[in-house]
Amino acid sequence: MHASVQDNELDVSGGREKRKLNYTALFIKYYNSPCYCHCRFCTIGQKTYSNVTFDRVEAIVGRFIKWKNEKGLDDFALNFFSGPSNNMDVARLKKSFELSEKLGNSDPTDRWIWLNGISLRPEDELRDWLLERKQAGISMVGMTFIGAKELHDKWRGRKGDYDFEMTMARLVGELGIKRLERMFLTKSTLPHLSSLIDLLDDIPGLSQRWITNVYYQGWARNMESERITRDDLQRLPEKISRYVGNDELRTEGEWIEYLKTDLQIPDRVILGRYTRHPGDSQLHLTIDETNIEELESRSCDEIVGDLRRRKDFVAGLVPPLRELLNDYGDSANMRLYGLRELEAKWIDCFTRDHEQLIRSEGIFTDELSDLTTIP
Ligand code: SF4
Repeated sequence: MHASVQDNELDVSGGREKRKLNYTALFIKYYNSPCYCHCRFCTIGQKTYSNVTFDRVEAIVGRFIKWKNEKGLDDFALNFFSGPSNNMDVARLKKSFELSEKLGNSDPTDRWIWLNGISLRPEDELRDWLLERKQAGISMVGMTFIGAKELHDKWRGRKGDYDFEMTMARLVGELGIKRLERMFLTKSTLPHLSSLIDLLDDIPGLSQRWITNVYYQGWARNMESERITRDDLQRLPEKISRYVGNDELRTEGEWIEYLKTDLQIPDRVILGRYTRHPGDSQLHLTIDETNIEELESRSCDEIVGDLRRRKDFVAGLVPPLRELLNDYGDSANMRLYGLRELEAKWIDCFTRDHEQLIRSEGIFTDELSDLTTIP
């Protein structure tokens, strides 16, 4: 955990109005289950794994649940993520579900998991593995499809992933488990989407299909050349466009025009993941061996207070959106973004330009990227 930052500590905002964030949630993360892929679109990016036992993590989360209830924090959410892959044994998986259910974040009658990143295994082993999960109450799985075999394996960073995933989709259908599919709307994947949809439509079990841009986060920040344009979007056949999500996508130029005429948003945004209200944000707490003992010895008030002060401090360094727009906005950029992504991109530009200042304030550059992070 980062050192405590006091409210009256150094003002790094250069005298301008500081961003004010409204924390609507605490997101607790526990990275203990290795992922076997190296996806170029991974929004987590660099991963480090913790050896802290689940029981200790569960105890901390349990304390936060008690704390939230005692304080009557009905509008403050607690979220828990255990992963990044679900390549874990069934006992651990069940415990993770039970914890999420205690937090009120998932429904015991509707348990589902992503299958991305599990280790390759022969078909008969895979069938048994999936069956065990079905017996543990998994009624749906999420899967990510890229396109044709070569492109798929390249994007997932492991040879054989395409064949493995297609086998998995077929087995899941045979076992009566529902399938949620995610695909990407990018320059490279666009030419493959129609045939991919045809292929997957022939495999029983489809429940939902969701086609989205790659979020500007983690490794996916290096995929700018893959962004589609408004023309690409408008040319999509109905067969594909019907699955494209509701995220509002505009070109950088269109967002700049929009922001210049909007009186509310520009001075106070780091968009939240869930509410989309300007200024809404969530606190992040990753539990690992470097902080577990400290977390066990401190009160929830102290932990949340420290996280809040630290995030306020980091956010205070970042200029308001209007300033970022003036310094880094590129009206000629025809690629499509969500507003949160564009803000993240401009914060990256600011970080590159002010690396020395940021370091001299004791801030890690990834703390600035984290400001706009989705879970
Ligand atoms: S499977 Fe998921 S966690 Fe693993 S690299 Fe791919 S996107 Fe990242």
